[in-house]
Amino acid sequence: MATNYETLEYDVLIIGAGGAGLRAAIEASAARVKVGMVCKSLLGKAHTVMAEGGMAAALADVDDRDGWKVHFSDTMRGGQYVNNWRMAELHAKEAPDRVRELEAWGAVFDRTPDGKILQRNFGGHRYPRLAHVGDRTGLELIRTLQDQGIHLGIEVNMEHTIVTLLKDGDRVTGAFGYDRERGRFKIFRAKAVVLATGGIGRSYKISSNSWDCTGDGQSLAYHAGAELVDMEFVQFHPTGMIWPPSVTGMLVTEGVRGEGGVLRNKDGRRFMFDDIPENYKAQTADNEEEGWLYCAGDRNARRPPELLTRDHVARCIRREVQAGRGSPHGGVFLDISWIKEKIPNAAEHIKRKLPSMYHQFLALANVDITREPMEVGPTTHYIMGGVRVNSDTQMSTVPGLFAAGEVTAGLHGANRLGGNSLSDLVVFGKRAGEYAAKFAREHGAARVNDDQVEEAARRALEPFSRGASTGGNAEGPYQVQYDLQETMQNLVGIVRREEEMVRALDGIAKLNERAGRVAVYGHREFNPGWHTALDLKHMLTVSEAIARSALERKESRGGHFRDDFPGKDAACGRMNVVVWKGAGGAMQVRRQPIPEMPAELKQIIEEMK
Ligand SMILES: Cc1cc2nc3c(=O)[nH]c(=O)nc-3n(C[C@H](O)[C@H](O)[C@H](O)COP(=O)(O)OP(=O)(O)OC[C@H]3O[C@@H](n4cnc5c(N)ncnc54)[C@H](O)[C@@H]3O)c2cc1C
Repeated sequence: MATNYETLEYDVLIIGAGGAGLRAAIEASAARVKVGMVCKSLLGKAHTVMAEGGMAAALADVDDRDGWKVHFSDTMRGGQYVNNWRMAELHAKEAPDRVRELEAWGAVFDRTPDGKILQRNFGGHRYPRLAHVGDRTGLELIRTLQDQGIHLGIEVNMEHTIVTLLKDGDRVTGAFGYDRERGRFKIFRAKAVVLATGGIGRSYKISSNSWDCTGDGQSLAYHAGAELVDMEFVQFHPTGMIWPPSVTGMLVTEGVRGEGGVLRNKDGRRFMFDDIPENYKAQTADNEEEGWLYCAGDRNARRPPELLTRDHVARCIRREVQAGRGSPHGGVFLDISWIKEKIPNAAEHIKRKLPSMYHQFLALANVDITREPMEVGPTTHYIMGGVRVNSDTQMSTVPGLFAAGEVTAGLHGANRLGGNSLSDLVVFGKRAGEYAAKFAREHGAARVNDDQVEEAARRALEPFSRGASTGGNAEGPYQVQYDLQETMQNLVGIVRREEEMVRALDGIAKLNERAGRVAVYGHREFNPGWHTALDLKHMLTVSEAIARSALERKESRGGHFRDDFPGKDAACGRMNVVVWKGAGGAMQVRRQPIPEMPAELKQIIEEMK
């Protein structure tokens, strides 16, 4: 009987305690409904804490030419115009207020000499726009939101994993999960649920993402009947650490390039000048001196090509490596130490501006970045696709199910600009919290179906019974996870082609069968093998969604590059790819036309070209 499990009751349940979840929880609490939060990790340890470079908002504190219209048009250009334009508009308009609100709540941003919020340059942003705290912006964001949330009395269930959403008819009425420490099942009954579970990077072998980014939210929503959009758009950040192997994939912030860091191949050539896309030529420096002047704050200089969008820089690095011009460990060189030619006390300046990078390289790779170049290469970083939501309310296509942050799709289109995620979290986290609270108020008590709970519990325990019945001979979950990461990295990675993705889908189907047979051993208390066995379903679901969507988009755009369709296709530029679970349980794919953009937004884009 389901009543055997502890049941917690909330008006609004938030799944995930990163920036999006915390901001949603604050807003729902402010609307005076009962809010509960669940997170896999400890409070304060969500992946958001790793964010480094900053939060994009057109505050115009450093350059008064900035404003929401420029931010909107930069976001649309970066996303190559398949963004949800309404989300891009709301984001650009509301981000400044969300940043000032954080400041009022105690966030200590870096300052301009006259006491305003300091903003730094980042790829694809026309003006210095990223509010930051050194290179530890995510930590400050999480700390501030947590303080505020705790004051408002949010109830937090840390180290709990949700394995399925519960439904009453069409409506989501809660979630079912277990506490990781003791392995006990719990029911979370709620009138509205907000998914804020972050990204999917752990489905790839090389990733900057933390351990809990296994695509749970995208998969929970999908299995509950929600639609996913544009899952093919995965961002490979150009600069991850590549050496030593134990830290492969760990992020090297774009802030390094914003502060003047340059990319060179093994011959010392600044190869980024060799390939500047046509639509960025007018805004990009055509010589090294102008690039430096931009980083040094000259308002009339154009940005260096190292600060072109991430998808482009990642592909240029890959090209250098494939052409045999890479660094000893298969990447290229990123050099910030060269700025000693330009400024006195460069070493101190680098340590002050990029303290985490300095320590990261010294401690992990024995490289002093004030004196020598780093070795870097692309790493799976972010997914632009995700749960399809209403742009204003953040409700998914399933009543009562809301979503915010990286788990959603829309704002970033085919490619996210750096810094636009942290502002996304607070802009749309707030909206999700507000509308989830409203939904909870307007709808009656949530009913939980005991059969759904019992079925979920039975399935979750199956790996243990297989462990007991096979006497230690069955395959464990880690081998399946490893093979999936290899498959996604090699066959649905930075450069894609049809026959490889077909092979990937075939591989994923076989991995699904193997995942259905994996066994785990021991008891339920903090059993990582069991946790991984349960994560596999989510990782496989999002991987299939990525591969199917990538096959459907027969062109190259943003994070999605196809060797067999290297150009953009005008028809594809007018559609999103949607996947959903069909009646028979198989994944379905369709092309969804993008609604016509209002004339005033079109005009803004024209004016900003
Ligand atoms: C190293 C690094 C640096 C970055 N720097 C920047 C930057 O400078 N600027 C910027 O804009 N972006 C940056 N990003 C991207 C940005 O940090 C993320 O996109 C963003 O933090 C995601 O926030 P979120 O709230 O959506 O999810 P997350 O912060 O990932 O939080 C997800 C939460 O959901 C929980 N969860 C997941 N699954 C479950 C489940 N099944 N049950 C219960 N709980 C669950 C997790 O435990 C966690 O609490 C960076 C990313 C990385 C990796």
